[in-house]
Amino acid sequence: MEERMQTALVTGANRGLGFETARQLAQRGYRVLLTSRDEVAGRAAAARILREEKAGRVEFQRLDVTDTVAIAALAKRLSDEHILVDILVNNGAVALDGFDEGVARKTIDTNFFGPLRVTDALLPFIPDGGTIVMVSSAAGELSILSDSLKSRYADRGLTRDALVALVGKFVEDVRRGRHGAEGWPTSAYGVSKASLNALVRIMAIELAKRKIRINAVCPGWVHTDMGGPGAPRTVAQGASSILWAALLTNDQTGGFFRDGQPIPW
Ligand code: NAP
Repeated sequence: MEERMQTALVTGANRGLGFETARQLAQRGYRVLLTSRDEVAGRAAAARILREEKAGRVEFQRLDVTDTVAIAALAKRLSDEHILVDILVNNGAVALDGFDEGVARKTIDTNFFGPLRVTDALLPFIPDGGTIVMVSSAAGELSILSDSLKSRYADRGLTRDALVALVGKFVEDVRRGRHGAEGWPTSAYGVSKASLNALVRIMAIELAKRKIRINAVCPGWVHTDMGGPGAPRTVAQGASSILWAALLTNDQTGGFFRDGQPIPW
């Protein structure tokens, strides 16, 4: 029987770390579903990898992680074309300027609920033993939270519903101007990544029976549009931190890593 080609799907892959991760996976022989919310940019990125790498299979798929219709269309394509996703890299995210209810809502919707929605929708297409990477950030370290919030986030008994309620409370506290009093920092980005990390710990338990590994990674401070020109790490260095977790074959799950080394939650 012909061996099935291993497939990887990367969100927010039209530029930055997502693009480089998609490029490196294609280089390693994966069929890559390069997803982007912008069709023109995504198609151009896929074409660039095909042109520069010559080998490999890179296909564009439109995907805005905040758009449930687009996520359902992706799931339908996977079903119709019998595609299994061996590696899912939830990379797409925003780091918005300012801090108010709108920023908090959009940041949480993209950086926390985006990966949650995409992962849940794609789980039927991830084979047992598959790999999920949540691209997170040290900016989401629990030390940004008050002691009381920290202990709720770090609680091993934290459920998915309780986490979603906590995240909703953050947005509501910002709306009411109560975030400081309630122990939240003035960084929606930081809260979104702390929440994503908590989700990784919860999902690792949920997915253990299918031997699907899920880990959070920090790429370090990387010279991309988000990281800015002063960042010390190259895109290739940042992407290799992501690749390490994407290419794991052991039973490591539920961790937070940079460059293959565990880092504090
Ligand atoms: P970037 O250059 O700003 O790229 C962000 C990517 O996310 C873009 O492709 C963007 O698409 C996409 N995106 C934003 N909103 C989206 C949505 N709703 N649906 C789908 N895609 C969306 O950032 P980066 O530096 O490569 O960051 C990649 C990941 O690394 C992020 O998760 C980030 O939080 C994390 N990270 C970065 C650094 C750093 O120093 N750069 C440090 C720690 C963690 P558009 O082109 O359409 O906007």
